[in-house]
Amino acid sequence: MVSIKNLHKKFGSLVVLNGLDLEIEQKGIIAILGPNGSGKTTLIKSLLGMVVPAKGDIEIGGEKVRNHWNYRKNIDYLPQIAHFPGNLKVNELIRMIKDLRGKDARDKELIEFFKLEPFLDKKLNNLSGGSKQKVNLVLCFMFDSPLIILDEPTSGLDPVSLLRLRDLIQQEKAKGKTILITSHIMSFVEEVADRIVFLLEGKIYFNGTVTELKSSTGQPDFEHAIANIL
Ligand code: ATP
Repeated sequence: MVSIKNLHKKFGSLVVLNGLDLEIEQKGIIAILGPNGSGKTTLIKSLLGMVVPAKGDIEIGGEKVRNHWNYRKNIDYLPQIAHFPGNLKVNELIRMIKDLRGKDARDKELIEFFKLEPFLDKKLNNLSGGSKQKVNLVLCFMFDSPLIILDEPTSGLDPVSLLRLRDLIQQEKAKGKTILITSHIMSFVEEVADRIVFLLEGKIYFNGTVTELKSSTGQPDFEHAIANIL
């Protein structure tokens, strides 16, 4: 589904991606992990055509990624930081995104799922961080695309909302989707991820299951296995 070959990206003199290769053929939940600044968001934005690599090839579903808008049509994306106008009301924003994408959306079901009904008439500026994140999750999941890319979906969520997110991601996986996810909450990652892809020094340092990571590092605990890499 996703094929990345020899990807390079620098910002000024800072080398972020340095010949990164990655093939994702399986469906399911793939966690992209790595320390702060290791290039997870840069990799994700490259997949979306939002960052232009210096070198390398990316194909999604057999098509070369060239133009941001062509590829976004079949990818649902949750950005790490969403930049929506804060003076819009939640229901206005949802309507605007639905109009822009021009697709059927299951916003009502997701609003109920995240218990957002009381916030629909409020401006984004007046929402808490966690409520804003739930609105972003509704916007991301409402179009039912086969590939979902979630950059830090756990950020700002309370424990109950985290469980809801976990259930939602697992429901989407059960539909046969591919879900790429970054998160710094290792207990969440350990619970949901079928595969771990670990970025270090601009390349994929590890690509395998949680169990394989634990055994290759000799650490029975996932967090210690991750710490052992660093
Ligand atoms: P985090 O876990 O903190 O979210 P990350 O692994 O997602 O980090 P990136 O956001 O991809 O890391 O950033 C990788 C490096 O590239 C960082 O050092 C960051 O400061 C730098 N960087 C990212 N975008 C830009 C940009 N537009 N201009 C300059 N530097 C950038």
